[in-house]
Amino acid sequence: MTEAPKAPAKTEIVNCHVHTFTTAHTPLYFPHPLVAVFRYVPWLVQFLRWIVSLLPYDNLTDKFRRIEDFHRTGSRGTQRDVFRELLHYYPRSTRFVVLPMDMAPAGHGPVREDIVTQHHELAELARDPDYGPQVIPFATIHPDREGSAAEVRRCFDHLGFRGLKIYPKLGFSPTHPVLMNEVYPLCVERNVPVMTHCSRGGVYRKGWGQDQQDAVTEPDAYREVLEAFPDLRVCLAHFGGDADWNSHLRDGFDPDDPKARDRNWASRIAALIADGTYPNLYTDISYTIFKFDDYVPLLRLFLKNPNLRDRILFGSDFYMTRQETLSEKAVSIRLRDALGEADFHQIAHVNPRRWLGEA
Ligand SMILES: [Zn+2]
Repeated sequence: MTEAPKAPAKTEIVNCHVHTFTTAHTPLYFPHPLVAVFRYVPWLVQFLRWIVSLLPYDNLTDKFRRIEDFHRTGSRGTQRDVFRELLHYYPRSTRFVVLPMDMAPAGHGPVREDIVTQHHELAELARDPDYGPQVIPFATIHPDREGSAAEVRRCFDHLGFRGLKIYPKLGFSPTHPVLMNEVYPLCVERNVPVMTHCSRGGVYRKGWGQDQQDAVTEPDAYREVLEAFPDLRVCLAHFGGDADWNSHLRDGFDPDDPKARDRNWASRIAALIADGTYPNLYTDISYTIFKFDDYVPLLRLFLKNPNLRDRILFGSDFYMTRQETLSEKAVSIRLRDALGEADFHQIAHVNPRRWLGEA
C-alpha cells in the first residue's frame, strides 16, 4: 500500500504570467489596420455582436461575446483597472507577475504611451495601497531602442522591478548584443529571472513571416543564452504553445525521423528541462492550459518527471485569455482539482518562488 501524499502547507498562489497593458500601449494598426476603427467607435464591437446574435450560429455569438470581453478589458483606462478585474478570479493572497510589452518598435503604427510611461504606471500600481502587495512588476526591453539597457537598469534600481520580460518576435534575436553584453549580466547580478514568449502565436514584427518569427522564438534559440549565463533563470512561456501541444497529441512523431520530437516545441522544452543540462530553465503553462480538457492529461504526464515537476510554473496570460471559453477562475480551479494539492502547490507556490529568487 502506498502512503497518501502529504498535504502541503497553505498554498499562496503566484501567477507568473499576466498582463495589464491597455489600448494606450498597443499599436493603432495591430493586428489589422481595420481595428483602429474600434478605438474611435467602441460601440461597434457590441453592435457587431448584436448582429451576429440574430444569426443562427451559437458558436459565433459566443466567440463575439469573448472578443467583446477582451476588447472591454484592454480598453480600461489604467493598468490598475485591468488588474482590479483580474483580482475577481483569485484568492486575495495571490500575487501576480505583471509583464509589460513594448510594441512601439514592431512597425504596426503609433503607440500612445511609450514604454517608459508604461513602466512608470506599473511601478505606481506596485506601490498602490490596496493592490500593490499583490503585484510583482517586470520590466521589458526592445534592444534596438536607444537607451533600452539603461531603462531596464532604471526599473531594477529605482522602480523595484523584479524581473525582465522579452518578446523576440517583435523584431530581435534573444542573442542580441545589448542583451548578451548588458542586460543578461545585469539580471544575473541582481538575481532576477527572465520571462520570454515561446509559442508560434502572438504579436510579431510587421513583415516577418512565420519562419523568421520562429527562428528567434524556438527553444533552441536560447541555448546560446543558457550556455553563456548558466545562473540566469529563464522561463519559456506557454510551454511552446497551442499549435505544438495540439500537434504533439494529434499527429505524434514520425518513427523514421529522429529529429521529429525536437521540432515540436512542447516536446523540445520538456526534453531540455528533463535532461538536466540547463538547471535554471523553466516553462509556464499560460494560455496553453486554457484548452483544459485536451491538454491536462499531457501536463500530468510531464509532471511525473522530477525535473519538470520542479520547473513548470503556473501562469494564465490574463487578459489575453478573455478570448477563451473558460474563465481564469474556472481554469485555476480545474487545474487544482486535476493535479491534486501536492502538484498544484508545487507549480503555483514552490516553483514560482524559486524562479523569482525568493526561496
Ligand atoms: Zn503573455
